[in-house]
Amino acid sequence: MHHCDSACGCSKMSRRGFLAVAGAAAVAAALPRGLAQEAAPGQTSAGTDARGAPTHPLIDMHAHQVPDFMRGQNPKGGAGGRTEKEFVAHQKAVNAVASVILGGNDYDFEFMKAEPNKYIRFASAQRAGGDRGLVVEKALKGGAKGIGEHRWEGDIPFTWRMLDMARDFKVPILFHFEEVLFPAAVFSEFYKVIEKYPTVTFIGHGIDWWGAIDKNYHKSQGGRPRGLINPGGLTDQWLSRYPNLHCDMSAGSGNNALLRDPYRAKEFIIRHQDRMLFGSDCNCSAGGTPTCWTAIKLMALNYLELSPEVQQKLYISNAAKLFGFKLS
Ligand SMILES: [Zn+2]
Ligand SMILES: [Zn+2]
Repeated sequence: MHHCDSACGCSKMSRRGFLAVAGAAAVAAALPRGLAQEAAPGQTSAGTDARGAPTHPLIDMHAHQVPDFMRGQNPKGGAGGRTEKEFVAHQKAVNAVASVILGGNDYDFEFMKAEPNKYIRFASAQRAGGDRGLVVEKALKGGAKGIGEHRWEGDIPFTWRMLDMARDFKVPILFHFEEVLFPAAVFSEFYKVIEKYPTVTFIGHGIDWWGAIDKNYHKSQGGRPRGLINPGGLTDQWLSRYPNLHCDMSAGSGNNALLRDPYRAKEFIIRHQDRMLFGSDCNCSAGGTPTCWTAIKLMALNYLELSPEVQQKLYISNAAKLFGFKLS
């Protein structure tokens, strides 16, 4: 059962409706009133790339955070080590005006209660064990607006259950591709899944996703392939072929792709500008260089000198449309 109302933007129909009215200006106008004040000094409005301004306002579509009441329950630390207050400070430091909390499920976050328009949650059940499908379903029924992130684990019942839920709840699904971890989940075969679910909104990210912007990529190159990009890899081809496929720029893998060959990365971004999404995947509490993935990505993107129109799309408007942020 699909519980979203027509304003949530998650169904094909309402997204089309949104697209019809959503030029960059319309999206900017739909941003909450507070955003103008939150823009970095020197930026007069969202989409204005004033030289010298620290960063462009952005929607971070790949954030990880656990609620304070669950801190310490994650033995591996990671995002569990950062308080909600530190998360909010981090997002402010990188000029995130809205964020998607992956695996936020149906949790009560204090920052969400305070500013509900700035956050949405995705449903996930990453760790094996128990009925993972039920966890995702419960979170979707509890208001999660997407599914992810999940490793692409290949042909297992949970995979199809998640995809069926993405279709039936009409929510996007975010996959992390890393074949060395799940050898049965062959990246080059994934297009068959996209073709099997033509109404589902897919988002890709991770090691193989970014490696495969190069047509000579092989997983044996490891997580951080170097050298100039040979355009026309699978990721590039699929983004051209499938309009329901979107590109999440988050993490070290995204940074690596931007930095190894900025000129061809720029061409890739321009080619797929309507489906590029800024994401951090950063769990640091600093929000600054040299350790913050988000800050590094922002510098790498600055270096590309993308047009204001393309920046507006990848930082703000593509995500606003796709996730139906109620930014007004
Ligand atoms: Zn992540
Ligand atoms: Zn960071």
